Amino acid sequence: MPHTCLAAVTRQPGTPPSIEMIELRDPRAGEVLVRTRSAGICGTDLHFAAGTFPYPMPTVLGHEASGVVETIGDGVTWVNPGNRVIVCDQTFCGRCAQCVSGQMVYCTDTQAKQRQRDRLLIDGRPGRQYLGVSAFAELMLVDENSLIPVPDGLSDDAAALLSCCITTGAATIFNVARPRPGAAVAVFGCGGVGLGAIQAARAASASTIVAVDSEKHRLTVAKELGATHVVDAGIDDPVEVVRASTGIGVNIAVEAVGLAITAAQAFSVLAPGGQAVVLGMLPPGAEIVLPGRTIRQGRGISGTIMGNVRTREDIPRFIDLVRTGSLAADRLATTHYPLTDIGQALDDARSRRGVRTMIRF
Ligand SMILES: [Zn+2]
Ligand SMILES: [Zn+2]
Repeated sequence: MPHTCLAAVTRQPGTPPSIEMIELRDPRAGEVLVRTRSAGICGTDLHFAAGTFPYPMPTVLGHEASGVVETIGDGVTWVNPGNRVIVCDQTFCGRCAQCVSGQMVYCTDTQAKQRQRDRLLIDGRPGRQYLGVSAFAELMLVDENSLIPVPDGLSDDAAALLSCCITTGAATIFNVARPRPGAAVAVFGCGGVGLGAIQAARAASASTIVAVDSEKHRLTVAKELGATHVVDAGIDDPVEVVRASTGIGVNIAVEAVGLAITAAQAFSVLAPGGQAVVLGMLPPGAEIVLPGRTIRQGRGISGTIMGNVRTREDIPRFIDLVRTGSLAADRLATTHYPLTDIGQALDDARSRRGVRTMIRF
């Protein structure tokens, strides 16, 4: 029996979604139907909404979410109806070489994408589910392996933000960059992801944390959450200021904007032996131009999907860091809208009005 619910349907890139009734099919083996409680608007959603990354339309955007399990398919043992859950767009098969070597974000199973083709019915026809989640809807039909149970005491917003934003920033620091205690770290971009990285750098005992953004209000939050220095990229040249404030540059630079220019800047502020990690999504065709003479002395640059997160291993630890106060989550949820105001919510996120704009169900 199909499940009917309200959803924000995007039919054309660059146009606001419309609020419509859609249908989701019953969960099959290994699938779970989740009633959405909170969803954040991530920069990735804005890229797909604008058409920067092509995606089959119509679809329902949104991938950073929390909710409550409604019904489960055959063989599901990880969660039960009534459980509160984080819904993460990173699913995994648990069998391929990438999965068994701890790199589930690079899972090579092609079946997951197949399952996303007939989960949503829009106008009575199959519409492609977005990133295996489609969170801007009252219900989500997802893989059991996309879910992390949420303990009591963690808010719905915090749970949603641990599905992408904070987890992406924190996993990049803890799994990929791995700063040593006392290290100098620069973070380009102080949206939810960048602020996750800043807080994780503080938790990892970095002694210098430079936050770079062009929005004053985000730099204020960055300072509150652990940045020791802030650079207003709308006024100052971040490369000059970071180098001036650290002497020889930083050991770790994190790019959380998604632009080739900030990726190049992240590389340019590295001290000898430093590593830059690009976790923003660079548009197709973007090329990062690096100053050739600085590539010597052991500097490196790499990219990552969600900080190489191992969802079932990392996210419960990040939940504990939120519960014990090392990571602030609710502080990042600065604006709330009902699903019916999704157009305004996307505008807010696009114009970087707060830190994270949330849809509350
Ligand atoms: Zn995201
Ligand atoms: Zn796999």
